[in-house]
Amino acid sequence: MNSLCEILKTQIRSDGPITLASYMTQCLLHPQHGYYTTRDPLGAAGDFITAPEISQMFGELLGLSLAQSWLDQGAPPEFLLVELGPGRGTLMADMLRATKSVPGLHDAAQLHLIEASPALKDIQAKKLGVYQPSWTDRFEDLPELPLFLVANEFFDALPIRQADRAGPMWQERIVGLQGDTLRLGLSKAKPLPHLDHRLEDTKDGDVVEFSPVAEHLAADIGTHIARSGGAALIIDYGDWRSQGDTFQALKGHAATDPLAEPGMADLTAHVDFEALARATPSLYSRLTPQGVFLERLGITDRAQVLASNLGGDALQLHIAAHRRLTHPLEMGTLFKVIAFYPKGATPPPGLDP
Ligand code: SAH
Repeated sequence: MNSLCEILKTQIRSDGPITLASYMTQCLLHPQHGYYTTRDPLGAAGDFITAPEISQMFGELLGLSLAQSWLDQGAPPEFLLVELGPGRGTLMADMLRATKSVPGLHDAAQLHLIEASPALKDIQAKKLGVYQPSWTDRFEDLPELPLFLVANEFFDALPIRQADRAGPMWQERIVGLQGDTLRLGLSKAKPLPHLDHRLEDTKDGDVVEFSPVAEHLAADIGTHIARSGGAALIIDYGDWRSQGDTFQALKGHAATDPLAEPGMADLTAHVDFEALARATPSLYSRLTPQGVFLERLGITDRAQVLASNLGGDALQLHIAAHRRLTHPLEMGTLFKVIAFYPKGATPPPGLDP
């Protein structure tokens, strides 16, 4: 029994059941016991691995796509280069290395990182120190300059709520206690005007997920881009519309019960890209599978160039990494990319309007 579990039980005993969003927030970000606040979860020794940790090609191609978008928008002489949830800083390091010969780009960029984890901030400071990043806690505190932003596997970590359809109303899934054990339960049926559009494509008993935090953030990013220019690349697993229960816990690269060990496992849900698109006042690109996006950006050519310097196990790993990022049975289709961009501009290369 860990202490976050005791904290949650005490809270539920005194105030009643909590929403999944409240549970998720405390499990991931509790200042002393949160999953992200206390550790580096990435890599073979951690709980999961992400695209930039699989191959340098991912960050290189994303960097070039955003750099081209900066050029297409007239190469503004001062802009914000922002990453949400930079993990170990690998993606940003690869983006910056790949773009160092783009004239003027690095001089124009102010690097801002938004990161909740003190443990990961330390790792980012070591990896990206030469680029003099600053860390900002809240997106809305960023200065008003053109914004070029990347977020990989960030939105899936934002807290979701879940509701079961009950006629024209919804029963929200909540975390309560059965005896001394955390258990999922259902609230009384209530109207959720926010989900009115889901009354069209669901029937009784269907589960819908929604994330007010993710929607607010998408609105803030889109408002900034609509006003000041720029582009945002958002990459994550999920689909155009949230479909059923995708709330999951990962520990040591294996699925586990999300309620079993609060704060000890990564908790995520698939991203509902339609909800982000509905929230942004900027234009948004077509939602595109990661494999298609990376192929359009030339990952196969880049893979061949890198392969020419490799042999033995390193070559086999490199070939496997290329496949893992792009193949439909691996990350190629499950992961999707969407971009936000301003009216009058084109989407970053690799994406269609
Ligand atoms: N983008 C990285 C890491 C993905 S893991 C990669 O692709 O490898 C999710 C990242 O988001 C971690 O850095 C985590 O600490 C951070 N994070 C999660 N929730 C957050 C929040 N609410 N605010 C800021 N950072 C958050």
